[in-house]
Amino acid sequence: MRRFALAAGIIGAIAFAANAQTAQDEARVTGNSGPLVAASPAEKPASKGPAPKEAGTASESGGEAAQANLKQPPVEAKTIFGAAATPAALAARSIGFYSRGCLAGAAAVPIDGETWQVMRLSRNRNWGHPKLVAMVKRLAEDAAAKDGWQGLLVGDISQPRGGPMLTGHASHQIGLDADIWLTPMPNRRLTPAEREALSATSMLGKDGIHADTTVFTPYHAALIRRAASYAEVERVLVHPGIKKAMCEENGNDRKYFHKIRPYWGHHYHMHIRIACPPDSVGCRPQPPTGTDDGCGKEVDDWITLLQRPPKVATPGAKPSPPPKPVTLADLPPECRLVVDAGTDGDAGTVSGTKVRAREATTR
Ligand SMILES: [Zn+2]
Repeated sequence: MRRFALAAGIIGAIAFAANAQTAQDEARVTGNSGPLVAASPAEKPASKGPAPKEAGTASESGGEAAQANLKQPPVEAKTIFGAAATPAALAARSIGFYSRGCLAGAAAVPIDGETWQVMRLSRNRNWGHPKLVAMVKRLAEDAAAKDGWQGLLVGDISQPRGGPMLTGHASHQIGLDADIWLTPMPNRRLTPAEREALSATSMLGKDGIHADTTVFTPYHAALIRRAASYAEVERVLVHPGIKKAMCEENGNDRKYFHKIRPYWGHHYHMHIRIACPPDSVGCRPQPPTGTDDGCGKEVDDWITLLQRPPKVATPGAKPSPPPKPVTLADLPPECRLVVDAGTDGDAGTVSGTKVRAREATTR
């Protein structure tokens, strides 16, 4: 297959325009809930259960400092995990649920491979369970060898210890989710500055609902399908307009389409989610997708939903209260071990206590 024509379109896309990539798009990603139903119970955050003791409480800090600590709101989990610069030197394990958990023994997707480049290096989110890292590499190699891609631009995976993030995603917490840009890799190495600034290309047309088939080509469809074909991949989230275009293009050949799930956002990148690794005790799976290809009522309902005019706020209505902050106590108890573990080659740890202390001095 001929190489994906990059020159004009892609180099043109290296316009250093405002980054349109979709932090907000991801904010509500939970996976498989249809457009017209609430998230299934399994997609809701884990029940809290008996809350483990918060790090840095009286027994650990002692004295007056502890008294002062007790009066402060607890440190949010995203602050703790966002400060972890290195992985936890523990056996690889995805703990909890995609949108409520953490990651031990993470591996990194190298920032440069022959057939991929990691983007947004400043975010330090190229960490995942080793099985996910292997899948990303395999996809990059397969896309180049079989689907006509020069290579892949790799977006966010997880933080070094997973967990909630300071910005963006609700999921990506246990190292089993990866964002792969739908913009192909240019045939040169991007500089670190370009990797921060390069905007991904939306696959949608002017209506913001349907795919623009001059932009969203069979090469893109082949890549999405390739990802869905892997046994360990349970879901590939794409914008409903992309799913609809793929349904229309593929006639009755819809193998793996049940794994290609329509969801908000996801027109700049696809979001690949793999299954809980069997040896990851405490990894909570998502309900199966079923076998329906989703090309009928499901995708049409999504399109209808997207075509509805936005809701207008009722004058005088109370704004909904902000969501309750997620603390370490809201995550599976094992995540405390992940936070406190050392890291290979570096005895330093990133503990809640230390983060708390740092925050206290910078306020
Ligand atoms: Zn994602």
